[in-house]
Amino acid sequence: MNNFDIAVVGSGMGGSLISALNNDKNLILFEKDSNLGGCGSTFKRKGNYYNSGATTFVGYEDNHPIKNIFDKAKFIPDIKKSDIAIRVIQNKKSVDRVKDFDTFIDNMDKVYPHKNNRIFWNTIKALDEKFWGLQKLHYAKYNMSSYIKTASSVIEILKVFKLDVFKSAESFINETLYGISDEYKAFIDSQLLITIQTTSKDIPLLSLALGLSYPFHDVFYVNNGMGSLFEGLLEDINVHKKEQILKIKKEKEFYRIISNKDEYKAKQVILNSSIYDSAALFDDVKIKKYYDSFSFSDQSAFVINLTLDSKEDFLHHYQIILDKNLPNAISQSYFISFSSKDDKKLSKNGYSVTISTHTKANLWKNISKEEYKVQKQITEDFIINNFLENFENVKKEDIINIHSATSNTFKRYINRNNCGGKAITFKNILQTPSCRTPFDGLYNVGDTIFAGQGWPGVAIGVEVLNKELNV
Ligand SMILES: Cc1cc2nc3c(=O)[nH]c(=O)nc-3n(C[C@H](O)[C@H](O)[C@H](O)COP(=O)(O)OP(=O)(O)OC[C@H]3O[C@@H](n4cnc5c(N)ncnc54)[C@H](O)[C@@H]3O)c2cc1C
Repeated sequence: MNNFDIAVVGSGMGGSLISALNNDKNLILFEKDSNLGGCGSTFKRKGNYYNSGATTFVGYEDNHPIKNIFDKAKFIPDIKKSDIAIRVIQNKKSVDRVKDFDTFIDNMDKVYPHKNNRIFWNTIKALDEKFWGLQKLHYAKYNMSSYIKTASSVIEILKVFKLDVFKSAESFINETLYGISDEYKAFIDSQLLITIQTTSKDIPLLSLALGLSYPFHDVFYVNNGMGSLFEGLLEDINVHKKEQILKIKKEKEFYRIISNKDEYKAKQVILNSSIYDSAALFDDVKIKKYYDSFSFSDQSAFVINLTLDSKEDFLHHYQIILDKNLPNAISQSYFISFSSKDDKKLSKNGYSVTISTHTKANLWKNISKEEYKVQKQITEDFIINNFLENFENVKKEDIINIHSATSNTFKRYINRNNCGGKAITFKNILQTPSCRTPFDGLYNVGDTIFAGQGWPGVAIGVEVLNKELNV
């Protein structure tokens, strides 16, 4: 009864997408939490629903890994396009990131004037388009055919991008947008931080292009919360919610999987736990050593959820950029998402609002309980006061419910205190973990594995893993 071909540990974007692609197999998926979706889940608190992290859905377009996977799983999501992907506000000036290139450039020329705006953004957009047109994107190690596919992918990248691959983002910015103002640089870097988890320092031009280009794609709002995508993707899957995997033992022909409820056997195991939290699942010294070899990235998230009792109209997403970092944060910006007014589930008692910024996991891990409470309140108050300053149509009394989450909260619910993959930079590209491990039948998936975070990044990794699984 408890024998499976594939066991997937975790229902995050990675675990859910790979399960949906293999829904015809003898597969079981375990999820520790009561909600599906990990950093992309939707949860209920005091009668209201909130998105716990991810709020933006990008990549549901033809020839894109996301759409390919959803189509293969025969799942049509309930989504609606956000005409303005994001409104960026800095010093009371705002730029709307819209898909239409000319409208966007006209807007940029007003707020961040530069003679070369069109050349800069045109290059960014063109590189992004070329990337999504690549046919052979592959990155996997520890097996001859994986290395061959990876090499052929590198050759294709070199052919398509030529010398642009070796160009640094910083030098491209300084050459093209010479004399760039601090405000304009902050506009670029703040958007990069939310998409590729780092600023323009140390990254290649291609990462800059991918990080800045998502609003040139269709950006969607997910009705009934981001979590509804996972419910839909996993409809035909044998899912065990509230079942945490505690230990995995490698035996001759299979892996023995021990949960807080039962014991299972599987020929292949796909871990959607982060690469930093996977060692704890094993006693096998070699496997432990493999996972321990990845140095911990302590980048994480601070999230505020609130319900807003307001009749005003809001866009789905805003980013506010300040002059200096927020308290207890490693970012000078925060991202705000409002539920759609007509969303029957999320907006039942007012707007469901998710606000997030970047923080360090170690900062919250190593302080006393009292200090934790104090610092959490300081960050929450700072963001809320700034939010009220920027949204003059919102009053403090309109906020009828509020709570914040740090990296410790993420650890409690979804077993990770790092949130956000490590950006792929010049320095670490070869150390990036591959979906295949050195151990037969053991794989990883998710945003700490190639190709990185968010729906598009995780989906690329899922497509690679699916090829490795089904050779
Ligand atoms: C604040 C924030 C905002 C974001 N905004 C966006 C956005 O707007 N759009 C976007 O595309 N991306 C966004 N991202 C990034 C995106 O959410 C993540 O990259 C993505 O969700 C990570 O998916 P994952 O596959 O790595 O799985 P995770 O989300 O890490 O999920 C892993 C799952 O595995 C489960 N698990 C772990 N260990 C065990 C175990 N031992 N047994 C059973 N279950 C286990 C966990 O409970 C969890 O549910 C955001 C991230 C954050 C933190």
